[in-house]
Amino acid sequence: MADQEATGGGGDRPRVFSGMQPSGEAHLGNYLGALQQWVQLQESYECYFCIVDEHAITGEFTPAELPDRVFDLAVSFLAVGLDPERSTIFVQSDVPEHVRLAWIFNAVTPVGDLERMTQYKDKSSRRESVPAGLLNYPILQAADILLYRAQKVPVGEDQVQHLELAREIARRWNARFGTLFPEPQAILSQAGRIVGLDGAGKMSKSMGNTVGILDEPEEIWARVRTAVTDPQRIRKNDPGRPEVCNVFSLHQHFTPAERIPDIEGQCRAGTRGCVECKQILAENIAEHFAGTRERARELKAHPDRVREILDAGAARARREAAQTLDEVRERMGMVWRGRLQPTGRPG
Ligand code: SF4
Repeated sequence: MADQEATGGGGDRPRVFSGMQPSGEAHLGNYLGALQQWVQLQESYECYFCIVDEHAITGEFTPAELPDRVFDLAVSFLAVGLDPERSTIFVQSDVPEHVRLAWIFNAVTPVGDLERMTQYKDKSSRRESVPAGLLNYPILQAADILLYRAQKVPVGEDQVQHLELAREIARRWNARFGTLFPEPQAILSQAGRIVGLDGAGKMSKSMGNTVGILDEPEEIWARVRTAVTDPQRIRKNDPGRPEVCNVFSLHQHFTPAERIPDIEGQCRAGTRGCVECKQILAENIAEHFAGTRERARELKAHPDRVREILDAGAARARREAAQTLDEVRERMGMVWRGRLQPTGRPG
């Protein structure tokens, strides 16, 4: 059985799974690194998009804020164009099978594999007391993906190692209990690493270096004007180096392609100041998300509609998840009712 090829979970279209932690309204890093691509994937794949609150509780969080963060991220999902008619959009903890499968995968995953994960080493080195959940985080990720027998997983570079571990877990489980899980393949984000406005590290809310995709134009400008630029541009007419400037890399995502040579040329020639260059960027970001802001306003005015979408998504996900988990338990000898013979031994 183990050398059979596992079929994926989707019907005609291959299945995709991806998740995002509920950190509230999405920011440019979330959008460029994931959401933009997720919207496109809906065209060719059967997609499961999950708000992974069970992952979020392995880090710092405030219980009173978590529900709002889930809701706000769901609004961002829908406002950018994730379509509940085509994709299954849901909250991880609404589908208990995620943690049940994760526990099962705990039984086939060596601790050494978890300890060598770069993210674990990095995050645990910054904590005095390391929760077991931080170590086991990639196992839950493997369960998220394999529960739906997803064939493809859109990921950023920093998640490639975790996806490789998910493939290894699938291989190990399949070898022992018979092939069931496909080995999921990465769809790498085209956007690369999105650097925050401070120019120092990855864009993230915890670093305070983001621009929210639902921010109003004046908020966008207030954030963008703080962006770090080429340090060699001390005076307005100093020639600049767009290739080292994060503002320029954001221009490449939000400024129309035909205007990029002008942004680049004036930077190199020192004929446009950084403030004006940032103003143009802020305007283009605001313009890019005008429709998204409008849809988000509409959704926030009807929170019941958002809740219904998440409830329907969770119900659909649960149906699929339950089938996989039933099969897993059957193969592992964990379904014993109905098998008892008169002697009291399993038949
Ligand atoms: Fe960056 Fe624009 Fe200033 Fe050049 S002009 S350094 S691209 S902000």
